[in-house]
Amino acid sequence: MFKKKQLISIIESIKSFKNPRVDLEQYTTDAVSTADFLYFVGIDNNDLTDNIVIDLGAGTGRLGLSSLLLGAKCLIAIECDPNAMKILHENALNLGFSKKILIMKIDVEKYVINKINWNESIKDLRLEIGSFGKKFESKSILPPIDKHLDQMEQIKPEKICIMNPPFGFQKRNADRHFLKLGMAISDKIYSIHLSNEKNRRFIKKFVCDNGWRVDSIHSQQLNIGHIYSFHRKSRKLILSDIYKILPELQ
Ligand code: SAH
Repeated sequence: MFKKKQLISIIESIKSFKNPRVDLEQYTTDAVSTADFLYFVGIDNNDLTDNIVIDLGAGTGRLGLSSLLLGAKCLIAIECDPNAMKILHENALNLGFSKKILIMKIDVEKYVINKINWNESIKDLRLEIGSFGKKFESKSILPPIDKHLDQMEQIKPEKICIMNPPFGFQKRNADRHFLKLGMAISDKIYSIHLSNEKNRRFIKKFVCDNGWRVDSIHSQQLNIGHIYSFHRKSRKLILSDIYKILPELQ
């Protein structure tokens, strides 16, 4: 297992967007926040080891590839921007993870809004995710003692959805579509959102209306660099909340 400092320096080597698109709210999560987020998911909640991670709005792979560094079994990276996907692929090659990832070009918003085909598309997506996960289930390399624990838990591999979605500055409700897709295809969600009371009330109600619940909220600072011309400062700290979201019955 990496020390946090080591992890941060590897995360820094994961390349960022070349020409970030403001319409897609492309912001690379800074390395320290990425490490904090994944420690929360993987160490505090033990939700990475041997699990299938689905990264929604994967960008160039900061969150998703780092989840592999912390022991996730495989990664399904969902993104709509081909330029970002290309960099993600290069980043995966550089880290030696190319066999562990599936990069899917999906526009989350279109997927969710297109209700006519919603059930069918979700079924297809679930199948694709399931068959990729299966490939990795067959080659367990766990020693017997862990295997025993694994059997007792009876739940791994779970599908863990992680995301730092668009906050909805450019397109209203963008984060809502991401949550909706996450609830349809995964077993558990860890999602980063702007920290404020209105958002907290909204997200709690939104997931509740879909049969899920907010289990816990963990606040952290995001360090946003000078990316777009409308940014006045070279760096800005933004308070964000990491939501752990589970199906109602868990
Ligand atoms: N997860 C990355 C990028 C976060 S920025 C990181 O943490 O560094 C948000 C990402 O969501 C961008 O890569 C953007 O291209 C993607 N995105 C925005 N709208 C999208 C949509 N409708 N469908 C899929 N991806 C989208």
